[in-house]
Parts: sequence; C-alpha cells; structure tokens
Amino acid sequence: MADAFYLIMYPLAYLGIMLIMRGEVRSFKANNWLDGAIAGLGAAAICAAFVFDTIVNSVSGSPAAVAVNLAYPVGDLILLAFAVGALVIVPGWPVRLVTLAAGCLVLAIGDTVYLFQNANDSYQSGTILDASWMTALFLLSLTVWQRVGARRSDDDAHAPGFVLPAVAGVSAVTIIFVGNWMHISSVALGLTVATLALVGVRAGLSRGELNALTRANHHHAVTDELTGLGNRRLLTRELDAIFATPRDSWRPDESLALLMIDLDHFKEINDSFGHPTGDGLLRLIGPRLSSVTRSSDVVVRLGGDEFAVLLTGADVDFAMAIAERITTEIEPPFDVEGSCLHVGASIGIALAPQHAGDATELMRCADVAMYRAKAAHSPYDIYESALDDGADRLNLMEDLRAAIADQALTVYYQPQVDLRSGEVTTLEALLRWSHPVLGFIPPDQFIPLAEESGLMWSLTTFVLETAIAQCAEWRRGGRPVAVAVNLSTTNLLDSGLPGQIHAALDRHGLGPDALVLEITESTVMADLARCKEIIQTLSDSGLVISIDDFGTGFSSLAYLSDLAVGELKIDRMFTARLSIDGVDGRNEAIIRSSIELGHSLGLRVVAEGVERSDHFGFLATAGCDVAQGYAISFPAPPEELDFAAIDDRAAPMLPAAHRLPATLDR
Ligand code: C2E
Ligand code: CA
Ligand code: CA
Repeated sequence: MADAFYLIMYPLAYLGIMLIMRGEVRSFKANNWLDGAIAGLGAAAICAAFVFDTIVNSVSGSPAAVAVNLAYPVGDLILLAFAVGALVIVPGWPVRLVTLAAGCLVLAIGDTVYLFQNANDSYQSGTILDASWMTALFLLSLTVWQRVGARRSDDDAHAPGFVLPAVAGVSAVTIIFVGNWMHISSVALGLTVATLALVGVRAGLSRGELNALTRANHHHAVTDELTGLGNRRLLTRELDAIFATPRDSWRPDESLALLMIDLDHFKEINDSFGHPTGDGLLRLIGPRLSSVTRSSDVVVRLGGDEFAVLLTGADVDFAMAIAERITTEIEPPFDVEGSCLHVGASIGIALAPQHAGDATELMRCADVAMYRAKAAHSPYDIYESALDDGADRLNLMEDLRAAIADQALTVYYQPQVDLRSGEVTTLEALLRWSHPVLGFIPPDQFIPLAEESGLMWSLTTFVLETAIAQCAEWRRGGRPVAVAVNLSTTNLLDSGLPGQIHAALDRHGLGPDALVLEITESTVMADLARCKEIIQTLSDSGLVISIDDFGTGFSSLAYLSDLAVGELKIDRMFTARLSIDGVDGRNEAIIRSSIELGHSLGLRVVAEGVERSDHFGFLATAGCDVAQGYAISFPAPPEELDFAAIDDRAAPMLPAAHRLPATLDR
C-alpha cells in the first residue's frame, strides 16, 4: 500500500515539471525542445548503462516485489531525464527548475543507494540515507514558493543550453564505444540509440536553420531597408556578374540598359512636408517602377531619391520605351498620409556593351545622362560619349574655370516690358558659354557645374560686374533701365554679397534701383531662416529681390509674406501652358491668382516665357505688371538690342485701354 503512494509521486512530479516548463517557456522552438529531449535521454542512458543493470540484477523476490522494486529506479530515471531536459529547454536557469533538478538528483541517489543496500540486506533506518529523501522532498516543495521567471542569469543566449545536449551526444557515442568491451543493458542501448537519433534530427534542423539564416543575411545585405527594393550592392553585384564575360563575346540579345532615375522636387517635399512623408513617398515609388518592368529586371534604390532599373536583353528603343512608361507611371499624384504629392523624374539611360565595359563605367554613364536630362528638363536622356568623352565633367569644370578667368563667358540680356507703358523697364542678365570644342553649352548645364566646383562666386561676380557696367552705359544713353541678375544659393548665403554689390553700384555711379536680384523658391527654401535675414539686409539697402520660377517649388506660400521680396516672377511653365490650354484653361486661373496674391502682398508681378503676342493682352487685363519672353525679344548681346524696335513691337500687343496717351508715355 505504502509503495503505491510513494510511486504515485512520480507521475505527479512529471506533471509538475511540465507545468513549470509551460510557465517559463514563452515560445515553442523545435530545436530547443529537441535539445531538452537529447539531454534528458542522454542522462538516462548514462545512468542506465552504469547503474541500472546492477540494480536490476540485485532485485529479487516475488514477481510483485520485483515489479515494485524496479518501478523506483525506472521512475527516477524518467524523473532525471525530465529534470535535465527541462533545464536545457527553459532559458536562463530559472531558480525553480534548478531547485527541482537538485531535488530529483538527491532522490535518485537516495533510491539507488537504498536499492543496493536492500539487495545485500545492509539497510538500516536512521542513517544519513534517510535524510536524503527528506532533503529531496524539501527541495521539491521549495519550488512551489519560488517566483515564476526568477533567473540565475538573464542571458537568453544561455550557453548551457547547448552544453548539456552536447555532453549527452558525446556520452551516447561513448556508451556505444564502451559496449565493445562491456555488457550494456538493452534499456541503456535503447536510450542511447534514441539519443543519437534525436541528435541526427537536430543536426538536420540546424542545417536548415543555418541555410535560412544565410539566405536572410544575403537578402538583408542586398535590400534597401526603406523601400524593400534592392540596393546599390545588389546592382553592382548583378552588373559585375554580367561583365564577368568579356564584352566582345556578348551575343546581341545579351545587351543591357541601365536607367538611372532621380526624382525632381523631392528635396522640396522633404523640406516642407517632413521626412516621414518623404520616406512614405519613396516607398510608393518602388511599386510603380516595378509595374512597368519585367520580373527579370532589377529595380533598386541607390540612396536618397535615386533609383535605378537594370534591363537585360534591352536595346536603345526598349530602354526608351521603358523610360517613357516610367515617366507616365510616376506622373499621377502620390497619396502619402493624406497629402497629395506630385514628383517628376529625370532618367539617364546608358547601354552596355556600347557605352561601358564594367559596372562602374556603366553607372557613371547613366549618371551623366541623368544629369543632362535634369538640366534640360527633359524626362530622359541617352548617354552620348561625344558630350562626355574627354570632355568629361572634370575637364568641363576646368574649361569653365578657364572661361571665367579669361572672361570668355558672355552676358546676354532679355528685356522685360511694362504692361501699362509698353516700355522696357528691366533687362535680365543671362549667361552664355560658347565652348571652343563642344560649342554652345546652355546655362542650365554649366551653372550646376560651377556650383559643384566652387566657381559660383567668381561666376556671379563676373555677371554682376558686367551687368552693372552695362546698365550704367544704357542709362548714360538715356534709357532709365535696371538689370536683373540671377543668384544661386551659395551666392545668397555669402555674407560678403551685399557689400560687394553696393561697391560695384557705387563704382558705376548707380543707386540700388538699378539692380534686381532674382532668387528661386528652392534657393530660399534651402535655408529659410538665413535667407530671410540676408534678403532683409539686401532689401533694406534698397535692392529689389525677385522670386524667380514662382510656382514650381513645393514650398508653402506662407514664406512669401515673411520675406522682404519686391517681385514675383511667374514661372514660364504656366505661361507656356496658356498656349496649350488656351486662355480659358486652369492655367489662366493659376496665373490670375498668382497675380492677385502678388499684388495683395504689395509685389510687382512679372510673367516670364511669354511667347505669343495674344498672351500680352490677357496678362495686361489680368493685371500683370511686367512681361518677358520671346514674343518681345530673345536674350541678346547688348549691341544687338534695339530698344526702339522693342517698344514698337510691344505697344500694339497691349490692349487699347492699357495704352497710355503718347504725351504721358514719356
Ligand atoms: P531663368 O532665370 O528662369 O531664365 C529664363 C530662361 O527662360 C532663360 O533661359 C531664357 O532664355 C528663357 N526664356 C526667355 N523667354 C522665353 C520664352 O518666351 N520661352 C521660353 N521657352 N523660354 C524663354 P536660359 O538663358 O537658358 O537660362 C536658363 C537658366 O539658367 C535661367 O533660368 C537661370 O536659372 C540660369 N541662369 C542663366 N544665367 C545665369 C546667371 O548669370 N547666374 C545664375 N545663377 N543663373 C543663371
Ligand atoms: Ca531668372
Ligand atoms: Ca525663371
């Protein structure tokens, strides 16, 4: 009877261990549980191999007595397996489990010693052996009190986690080995084989895990975190693999095209809507790019707002078709957190093997083409070696440096006509560079180059000096005109600028009314706080500051009322669209409200890019103050400008009501 009560402790103890494990282990990991099973089975195998046989052989008596006496060592073996297994499975050696395992160990030792003594009748009650059971029970009861989650160490990577299963595995192999000389019981052999089988399964799982980890690492290394597209490393890797075959042995269908895509106005969006919105927008670009490419093409984000598409088996026509589709695809507005955002893209196309023989070269070519597309405001451009070969950007920079030093640049002037009087009031100074080899290079292309190579100061100094001198000459000739000079961001942020300007004006005996300074919206937005201060200084000294290309930036209109500017130049894009939409379209509304906005802030409003004479009438009636464009005059060198002819051309274009009586005119 008593034995039945003793024995029932075993299943209850197993259950207890399981419950403790369930409380301690939060997530199920097959590997972890396998480790536990291996360690547990291994421990059982060791005990069975070296002690169990002796115990079994020492048991004798009636079948019932043998069964009962054997139940103890078997129960202990299983208990030991459970306790060791649990120690492995639960991370960080929780105090409860350590206490429990210690209890089990003491119990097993006590039982074993008892069985030995009982077999040779040497057991006596009242020895230290009896204390072992008491100690075991005490330890087991202690586990009930201990707090769930209490850890001996917080280290979740718990090194012992693999030490115990490893020891078990090694022991299992040792047992098999020892079996050559020594008899090993079938129970021990069974446990050993089971341990080794589990070690095998575990190794298989680890391999799978390792492979998955390697794949994940690889994926991570070539993925752009923000967009989930490939990154620059992926592109270089793909290109390097392709260029590993020498160029001359490429089949025609192996040619490839690299499209370098740079978003327009992204910086403005980022500055005015904030980085989270910018990031949100970038995330939306990928799907649109992927929607026009084949699954075999590689779409990557190179960083910032730059993306690239690698088309394999593509010729120039295919690349152009894809570039066009990308442009159309990017056009519809993006909905980012409720904001409706428009971006454009400038795409540079380079082809291999035609343009380049390696990855770096191909990427550089695509970059050059992209840069040209951006400068020309065209959606895409194809790399042209004539424009790059030898005259690569570095050489071009050197040529520009020399041109500035030799004063080989010329300044053209484009008149602006007052829409009430029909007279030329101001002339915008526009730089021209005629390169000795490459011919005419538009300012849109060399101005950024000057910016990059630190030539902006000398370039602007040259324009200012030339334009002011020219203005003085016109005034001496009886034309009360002013000149307008374009400033870049670097110029505006240069604290020496105001002094420099006034010195030049003084030298030519001119007042501040002779000069207008044009700055673009994006220039101002680059550093609003500082620009605001500088603009204030310039304007306090009597100079007129004009906001150029108004309407193309994404800046909020709020900045306008904050800046001491005197003029607004409506971008030529809106005027150009008048010709497309006709005067009744939405562009008319944009122009009208820009004029109204400008006037309500007390600004003079200039419309630039006026190409058609009939738009003069519209602009004049809409209240616009000044117009500039091919319809009046192309930019021209001063000696070619005929003011009288311009007056004659402008007057009839104005609506009759606007023409002042001739007597008042002069
Ligand atoms: P911008 O300041 O907007 O200059 C006006 C541009 O529009 C000029 O191009 C002018 O030739 C062109 N334009 C004038 N009337 C019409 C027209 O009726 N229709 C069309 N479609 N275009 C017209 P340009 O001379 O090629 O200059 C391009 C840009 O280069 C300028 O744009 C300005 O941002 C920059 N730039 C030119 N000279 C200088 C300079 O001395 N310094 C700085 N910082 N930038 C300059
Ligand atoms: Ca301008
Ligand atoms: Ca402009």
